[in-house]
Amino acid sequence: MKLDEIDPEVNKAIKNEINRQKNQLEMIASENFASEAVLKAQGCVMTNKYAEGLPGNRYYGGCEYVDIVEELAIKRAKKVFNAEHVNVQPHSGSQANMAAYFSVMDEGDTILGPKLSHGGHLSHGSPYSFSGQLFNTIQYEIDPETERWNHDQIIELAEENKPDVVLTGYSAYPREIDFSAFKEAADAAGAYLIADIAHIAGLVAAGEHENPFPEADIVTTTTHKTLRGARGGVIMSKKELAEDVDFSVFPWMQGGPLMHVIAGKAVTFKEALTQSFEEYQKQIVRNAKALASVLKENGLKLMSGGTDNHLILADVTSVGRTGKEAEDLLHDVGITLNKNMIPFDDRKAEDPSGIRIGTPALTTRGMKEEEMQEIGEMIISVLKGKESKNKVSERVEELCEEFPLYEDLEW
Ligand SMILES: *Cc1c(COP(=O)(O)O)cnc(C)c1O
Repeated sequence: MKLDEIDPEVNKAIKNEINRQKNQLEMIASENFASEAVLKAQGCVMTNKYAEGLPGNRYYGGCEYVDIVEELAIKRAKKVFNAEHVNVQPHSGSQANMAAYFSVMDEGDTILGPKLSHGGHLSHGSPYSFSGQLFNTIQYEIDPETERWNHDQIIELAEENKPDVVLTGYSAYPREIDFSAFKEAADAAGAYLIADIAHIAGLVAAGEHENPFPEADIVTTTTHKTLRGARGGVIMSKKELAEDVDFSVFPWMQGGPLMHVIAGKAVTFKEALTQSFEEYQKQIVRNAKALASVLKENGLKLMSGGTDNHLILADVTSVGRTGKEAEDLLHDVGITLNKNMIPFDDRKAEDPSGIRIGTPALTTRGMKEEEMQEIGEMIISVLKGKESKNKVSERVEELCEEFPLYEDLEW
């Protein structure tokens, strides 16, 4: 490869990024490390190919090989998620949501979805996103007592407001989702139920979280979070909605699909069907639970008191820090995570009260409960300013060496 000669600046930034990923503890709940097989497929010559349309029915010639990868991706995704219909073309999770909305709604229709600061995503109806501008949105909130969804209240909101879509699925909710309760809310309004499983897709694939089908009419996801694959989006649906879903992806929202990314998605789904992937997802959850208990024992307040999935939402004001302070302090010792709003936060998004912590990426490195115990103690000691920064940084370096990443990656 001659990238270093043709564009040394870009090549150097990529090299530095590889080293950054290798040499820090990645605890951003939405991030992960795709396999070298996925990276290879995603970086291939299929990027050169126009393939508007669907396999076997394209607007361009020469699609015989890209058809093979898209057909494999669809067939495997159906198996992974037990889905009747799959479209693997959305470029991202947000675009999957846009196409999902327009396959069952028109501009001005109503979505009942989660509030951003209570665990929802921008694309769930936030005024800063297309979703809040093009649709009428009603937002449900966490129950302040249990810090979980109050299903009775959500069903009531649905009955009163008669939305066209009820949306479930979150970016910062540490508990299992009860899809049948959301189905009840959708039925109370005669609405479609859309489940956005961007965060928990890997857990769902491995049976570590309930599957949104058959309750949901449409399921959207990303492929790069717990699913650990190529960066992108997918829409799945019941077969009755197949044509509407396909049409709203292309020609309505997108032009040519990213065929190299679809090749990466095909490999992602193949990996998701293996026994070792199932074991990996189980370990993600065990690790999150182990980490949650150390943090809790040491006085950090966890939203809803713990976790059922891959992430933890912690109120760091309980140990005298703000979210931004915590993010910066931990970044300085090589632990990467993000500040996050907590429900009913009285601080602003730029410096909220919480942090979000995830275990998918560290679990990919092979870490287990024992390491979670230690890393939990390190997080606490940094937040409480107990131990010298250098000592913690040194231990981060050692852990990264003990659990290496991308050993065979050539660049
Ligand atoms: C990450 C996420 C998305 C958006 O994915 P992008 O690929 O970043 O557009 C959508 N919904 C939820 C719940 C997410 O967490």
